[in-house]
Amino acid sequence: RFADTTLADSSHRSNLRAGSGHGSSPPPTITMAQAPGRAASAVRLFDAHCHLQDPRIAAAAPSLIRAATASGVGRFAVNGTSEKDWHLVKQMAQEHPAIIPCFGLHPWWVPERSPDWMDSLRQFFSETPEAAVGETGLDKGSHGKTIDFGEQVEVFERQLELAKELEKPVSVHCVRAFGDLLEILK
Ligand SMILES: [Zn+2]
Repeated sequence: RFADTTLADSSHRSNLRAGSGHGSSPPPTITMAQAPGRAASAVRLFDAHCHLQDPRIAAAAPSLIRAATASGVGRFAVNGTSEKDWHLVKQMAQEHPAIIPCFGLHPWWVPERSPDWMDSLRQFFSETPEAAVGETGLDKGSHGKTIDFGEQVEVFERQLELAKELEKPVSVHCVRAFGDLLEILK
């Protein structure tokens, strides 16, 4: 239904722009079969977790967003991972309204945090009130187990407390630590 309305609106607009003298003739009927590119927009999708700020793909982000939008993806939750990329996520969200910015400290980057990381995180949330918390979590996988687990827990809990205080959703990363995750969330 949503897609039908969109198609009807756009054909009406193009008639107006053309200033056509077709008088009372009805606007052309566009069927889904004739517009396969639009058909997917009948399903409205939400990319709940991506990292479009990653330097390996950041340059392609505008075209990725365009292509995904054409396929029916309405919003993109772009997750920050450390103090080094929060400003990129913020900037990207300002440039692309479809992006939901998320600021968080990923367990892999726990050892690189500065002493001021929480103050900085709070600052990003005060400047970008629509943002969510993420990416944060626990990791006992092949790389995660090289990072002090006590520190991972402390950093994760502080972000959960902040999310609770600010009433924000949290994007959680968890690798081989679901027992610990469950206990903390309780
Ligand atoms: Zn992620």
